[in-house]
Amino acid sequence: MTNPLLSDWDTPFQLPPFAEISDDDFEAAVHETLASARAAVDAVANNPEAPSFENTVEALELADADLGRVLGVFYNLAGADSTEKRQELQRAFSPLLAAYSSDVSMNKELFERVETLWQQRDSLNLNDEQARVLELCRRGFVRAGAQLEGDARERHREIKARLAVLGTEFGQNLLADEREWSMPLSEDDLEGLPDFVIAAARSAGEALGHEGPAVTLSRSLIVPFLQFSPRRELRKTAFEAWVARGANGGETDNREITRETLELRAERAALLGYDSYAAYKLETEMAKTPEAVHDLLMQVWNKAKPAAEADAEVLAEMLAKDGINGPLEAWDWFYYAEKRRLAEHDLDEAELKPYFQLDRMIEAAFDCANRLFGLEARALDVPLYHPDCCAWEFTRNGEHIAVFIGDYFARASKRSGAWCSAMRSQKKLGGDVRPIVVNVCNFAKPPEGEPALLSYDDARTLFHEFGHALHQMLSDVTYESISGTSVARDFVELPSQLYEHWLEVPEVLEKHAIHAETGEAIPADLMKRLLDAQTYNTGFATVEYVSSALVDLAFHDGPAPKDTMARQAEVLDGISMPYAIRMRHATPGFAHVFAGDGYASAYYSYMWSEVMDADAFKAFEEGEGPFDPALAKRLEEHILSAGGSRDPEELYRAFRGRMPSVDALLEGRGLL
Ligand SMILES: [Zn+2]
Repeated sequence: MTNPLLSDWDTPFQLPPFAEISDDDFEAAVHETLASARAAVDAVANNPEAPSFENTVEALELADADLGRVLGVFYNLAGADSTEKRQELQRAFSPLLAAYSSDVSMNKELFERVETLWQQRDSLNLNDEQARVLELCRRGFVRAGAQLEGDARERHREIKARLAVLGTEFGQNLLADEREWSMPLSEDDLEGLPDFVIAAARSAGEALGHEGPAVTLSRSLIVPFLQFSPRRELRKTAFEAWVARGANGGETDNREITRETLELRAERAALLGYDSYAAYKLETEMAKTPEAVHDLLMQVWNKAKPAAEADAEVLAEMLAKDGINGPLEAWDWFYYAEKRRLAEHDLDEAELKPYFQLDRMIEAAFDCANRLFGLEARALDVPLYHPDCCAWEFTRNGEHIAVFIGDYFARASKRSGAWCSAMRSQKKLGGDVRPIVVNVCNFAKPPEGEPALLSYDDARTLFHEFGHALHQMLSDVTYESISGTSVARDFVELPSQLYEHWLEVPEVLEKHAIHAETGEAIPADLMKRLLDAQTYNTGFATVEYVSSALVDLAFHDGPAPKDTMARQAEVLDGISMPYAIRMRHATPGFAHVFAGDGYASAYYSYMWSEVMDADAFKAFEEGEGPFDPALAKRLEEHILSAGGSRDPEELYRAFRGRMPSVDALLEGRGLL
């Protein structure tokens, strides 16, 4: 039997042959492609010829292409459709891959070649993109410890391997806790819940094999339950289960993992000569320093906290009017905020929901991409990895651009949240490769035969992830290492958050927000109420988010805490966190920061990007409107197609002509 992962994929668009791949194939394929990647890297390192950009940097870019192809499939499946076998493989692969990446970056001969090129960079006749790739390549080696010697070198290798294991365990524990918990509901417990929540609770109960409906920890079920259920005890139980993920004691408890992770990160930064892990991490970001991040977060915090406190007073009065003694609690906030929204904005999620059909919102996201960038989508009938997935081909002027896969419904085998990943990235080196891009969400699946309806938040998420997808699909660079979303972390959310703005454009809503039963477009008055309500409760949302970002920064700026929960409490005390608001992600469930180090001391980056996206969309408002062709062209040229080919600050300036201030963000959130 040949391993389908190792053959040429003679499929439409060279999509992975999902139907032929079994979980057992991954192990052999990873071992084999890892071995050939190692051999290719060794060949580069031991090349007797003098180093050139081509025989060193370009050869390295190509060395692990086959491994990347296998892992691109594996990690997509492990996240979107996990099985026990896949989890086991994930645990087995993570130390192997960490060791490989360590071995590459710690290879002395290799680093010497790169360093030689770096010293000769002015005489190599490199174009701008090549110069950038060389700079990033060399910086990657240095930051990975290539210059370390002796014991420090060995210790650094151990730390990296251990951190990879801890990150995987953290994510798996969280998933286990999410799966473990559910709360069966009696028919009486459905009181006050809109039909869509009842339907979601029924299908969740059914999937779990309960007699009746149930609440689970899927965000798209638990959040509306907290918003609508008048039963305070049930809200409390559900909320406490939600925030306790990763902190339930026993085998899946993440608290000790967070402590060890922070300790190892701090030790690693010290080995590399940085003051703190945050200093190390932020060096490559647009923000550059922990001080710059703290400064931005506090500017926003100081406007958001009073707004949230004023809201808390109103909600506490509503609670008292309901005859409840005692303070407003965190499990009350969602419920009373929803009630108040109904009263003040007359905007009811349940009234709104029929207008946000999943299929129409997908069309809306595609239609905007057509008007802005001339992209055309065509549905594909190809085998995918799960029956809930759909695929489209994107073209422009008849030319193939990308394959896009949408995997929108929640299921037990999918990790929570929403994300975009490239199963294959765009590049030109070694052949013109167009990307395969996946958007994964966790929207509630409707009962058989009924249309899937989204909340407005879900629709935003869809646009958000599609913005990331555009960054991948429109990518036009030579080197994979700087392709698509391979940019600074605090720049990567700019395309996605910017794209959310098009959902708020009235002509987009008029065209695509179509009632599921009547087929009528959203009434002007409902749309106005919807758009007016967008700044509603932003004090709360901002406090939830900024507190998480400040805790993340504090964890990494300075010595590692002995007790992460105590440190979290200390930071929240220090900023006088409002009583009835919790961090958006409590530490034991803070996957951004602990299930891998991608957002470690970088959770702020969503807000950093928001400063830019608010300012960038203002450019359209100040120009010819949301579909201003000249601006769309600049957006594609300087941001969406450019990947990491230039410093992000340069890219932004090229698009906008200047850097943004925090004002457009505060205005957008109604906090000015
Ligand atoms: Zn994002």
